[in-house]
Amino acid sequence: MFMRIDRLQAELPLPKEPSPNAAAALQELLGGKYGEMSTLGNYMFQSFNFRNKSKLRPFYSLVSSIFAEELGHVELVSTGVAMLNNGPGDPTPEVDVSAAPFEEMKDVRLAGGFFANAGGAMPMNSNAASWNMDMVTSTGNLIIDLLHNFHLECGARLHKLRVYETLTEPTGREVCGYLLVRGSVHAHAYALALKKITGVEIEKMLPTPNIDLSRIPESQKYLQEGSHRRLYMFSPDDYREAAGVWSNDEVALPGDPPGNLEIVEGPPDGGKIPELDGNYGAFAPDYAPEEIFEIASKLYKKSR
Ligand code: MN
Ligand code: MN
Repeated sequence: MFMRIDRLQAELPLPKEPSPNAAAALQELLGGKYGEMSTLGNYMFQSFNFRNKSKLRPFYSLVSSIFAEELGHVELVSTGVAMLNNGPGDPTPEVDVSAAPFEEMKDVRLAGGFFANAGGAMPMNSNAASWNMDMVTSTGNLIIDLLHNFHLECGARLHKLRVYETLTEPTGREVCGYLLVRGSVHAHAYALALKKITGVEIEKMLPTPNIDLSRIPESQKYLQEGSHRRLYMFSPDDYREAAGVWSNDEVALPGDPPGNLEIVEGPPDGGKIPELDGNYGAFAPDYAPEEIFEIASKLYKKSR
């Protein structure tokens, strides 16, 4: 079962202005072939479908804890998309809808993101192709699933680097910088799992693509705090057996700050979920925002 924490895995800087095309680029990291919906879907169903869970506990725990992290990555990228589509501003309920207040939105690349979703994220890629079940591999063969996961994390790194290279604004770059560090952990973890089973030192292929995180400024604070050496359990006590794979016998990848790998109870500290304004001219929230806010405020007081 699951517990929710109302925080993001990383703190995202607020955008200076709306940047809907940057948001569209970030959609690739959410609903693209190698996006967070794919890593989530793969590890989630592999975890649920896992046979011999108790006999294969270190591997089951590894896949299960990474799956929990991917759900938070879906949340992080989705928030980044919404932030880039929102930006600062002083929205007023008195928008003149007859003056084409959103004229430029018809020309943005992912116009449906505004028309259908009011700037929110959806499980689609940067060209609005739907994410779907075909992105999920759960074969029941542990080695093949782990190999697939290793490929998926390397592919995700490739796409994150490409998206990063298209972005100039800080919100999307921070999403990429954080996820490149965490994706590197996951690729490393699946490589070590394969090594424990087969003896093949697949981690020597890393990083793939061959770009050190030292070249990504936004990754540096996460490297300095040791995020690249940590695997989070996302549970107070369960899934600790992942330490059999991600343990003190193993060390950080060459090129990253050195040190032992470690399992961490619970989630990372993370950051605040930003408060984004409603969009009055786009009827979100609709009807009479001040009345809805007042109703919510009364209900909030009753709940205390
Ligand atoms: Mn991820
Ligand atoms: Mn991952």
